[in-house]
Amino acid sequence: LAKEGRTGVELYQQDKDRNSPERLGLLGDLRRAVDNRELRLHYQPKVDLATGEVRGMEALLRWRHPVRGPIPPDDFIPLAEQSYLMRQLTEYVIDAVMEQAARWWHTGLQVQISVNVSARDLLDSALPDQLEAGLSRFRLPPEAIQLEVTERILMGDQAYTHETIKALAALGVPLALDDFGTGYSSFIRLQRLAASEVKIDASFVQRLSSSEDDERIVRSIVDLVRSLGLRSVAEGVETEEVALKLTGMGCDMGQGWLFGRPMAPADATVWLRERVGV
Ligand code: C2E
Ligand code: CA
Ligand code: CA
Ligand code: CA
Repeated sequence: LAKEGRTGVELYQQDKDRNSPERLGLLGDLRRAVDNRELRLHYQPKVDLATGEVRGMEALLRWRHPVRGPIPPDDFIPLAEQSYLMRQLTEYVIDAVMEQAARWWHTGLQVQISVNVSARDLLDSALPDQLEAGLSRFRLPPEAIQLEVTERILMGDQAYTHETIKALAALGVPLALDDFGTGYSSFIRLQRLAASEVKIDASFVQRLSSSEDDERIVRSIVDLVRSLGLRSVAEGVETEEVALKLTGMGCDMGQGWLFGRPMAPADATVWLRERVGV
């Protein structure tokens, strides 16, 4: 973490200047990284809080820069989002996830894989086409994949009626609303997006043990999510104490270091086999 943090600080200091050589250099490196196979996906489990059963795996992008070493996604995703590169990254991620899903589903590990997509990806008509082609090529049901979207997508009202979102719904690929509570959330908008899961941001979850205000916030999110007929997922669960509180509130699922860290595909497969027993 310390190593990753250092890179982060360097980048944030340059953040003021969008066209700084630092940023442009990193963007150029990222462009090459896709072809040079420097990008990999790690997988983090999502579990049922009441039973401990595995409910899914979230794909998280990892970049090992040949000179700088590992660069955390928070340092390069926002950069990519400001360029056409994000589209290429998402394409890469979905291809890799489809292959992984095929390996797991066709060997008895039928676990849903979640993919993080950017707001702009969700409005790109190439996305449902790519998903449909992948599902058919690998003989996967649409629930094999879930898309995680942040609340930023919900800013424009037009977004809901966008044909890409309709196409995704028609395809049957479920949506989750990511980082809930951090943006401009509204439950009406949430309903219109037709998401099936809401991921409660780690910043609330992690303060559960120390702050009563946060406890009230999380509890009311969990209640509202349930009243809309959706499932709740708590992000960033690190301790048993927090997990117990969440379970008591009726939160459906949890994700975090307590249950499992993001793992390379081989380790994730071993982890899954131990849990699922195949
Ligand atoms: P996110 O989607 O909210 O992912 C959760 C982040 O929390 C991940 O960070 C994960 O490693 C971290 N995490 C999980 N459990 C714990 C915990 O118990 N404690 C703490 N402190 N952290 C935990 P990561 O992998 O660094 O990813 C950061 C963000 O980058 C993600 O946030 C997501 O917004 C973005 N991202 C990652 N991969 C992709 C991708 O393939 N595409 C897009 N568009 N964005 C991605
Ligand atoms: Ca996510
Ligand atoms: Ca999140
Ligand atoms: Ca996040």
